[in-house]
Amino acid sequence: MSLAPHCHVFAGGSLDRAGAKRRDVDWLAQALGQREARVVCLGDGQQPFCVPGEAGSLEAGWLSSHALGALPVEGPPIFLGLDDVCAPHFAVRIGPEVAGPDGPLHGLGEFHEMRAAAMRLNGADTAALGCAKALFDWHARHGFCAACGSASDLVDGGWRRRCSGCGAEHFPRVDPVVIMLPIAQDRCLVGRQARFPQGMWSALAGFVEPGESLEEAVAREVLEEVGQRVLSARYHSSQPWPFPSSMMVGFLAEVEPSAIVLDAEELEDAQWFTRAQMRSALAGQQPGCHPPPPFAIAHWLIKAWVQEG
Ligand SMILES: [Zn+2]
Repeated sequence: MSLAPHCHVFAGGSLDRAGAKRRDVDWLAQALGQREARVVCLGDGQQPFCVPGEAGSLEAGWLSSHALGALPVEGPPIFLGLDDVCAPHFAVRIGPEVAGPDGPLHGLGEFHEMRAAAMRLNGADTAALGCAKALFDWHARHGFCAACGSASDLVDGGWRRRCSGCGAEHFPRVDPVVIMLPIAQDRCLVGRQARFPQGMWSALAGFVEPGESLEEAVAREVLEEVGQRVLSARYHSSQPWPFPSSMMVGFLAEVEPSAIVLDAEELEDAQWFTRAQMRSALAGQQPGCHPPPPFAIAHWLIKAWVQEG
């Protein structure tokens, strides 16, 4: 299923999240006990356990849920969903020793950093593992109720926490981030953060704040970061970004071009490029300028704008 101009990495999951069924504790227990149930492990830093695929690719290291008994699992499993033949899929947190020389998974695969793994996994596995990472990151930070301070418990297969003191319900958070390419006729404005690889220029981005629409966040961020006034903001697509829980919402932002006024805390530089220059940059033929890799929504914002010309 693809509802967007481009199905981004971490989107495009193929599992049915079965939102009504996962509220049933007995159904979840029965699902986990099925012979067809599959479980994937995440280790330190929510690194997914992956096995080698074809031609240097990776696959999520899906195990039979019956293998769980031999593994030092930390905390309850998270229910990820049902596949197209209704096999339940789960994720568990696990200690790093399992892949070590004496561990039960030794020789089968390895834990990989999520970004690096995502470039080598298929889309459905990436979406499932990114979802698991986002949920485990949230659980790790939300063991106590924000209302009363009591310990809270994981319920609904990991899709909710319930406070043991006041009964408050807490749901996994998703933090919206606007990411936008400022454009003016035949030019676009891209920025560089100090941490970027040399020569990489990208779209601008910032968290949406309370009390503003997405379009207003686009206008505020563009004005704050590069001093340009936004005339209109056109939605392009969105990308779940589990580092730890962002939702990147992509826009092309028409601006009234003026002198760049840089927010030096956010960016080390910003620069206008013509459409021809960006077309060359996408082809790897523009010295000193390359866009982010296809892994990132910014790549597709730049590409969409280049293809409009
Ligand atoms: Zn509470």
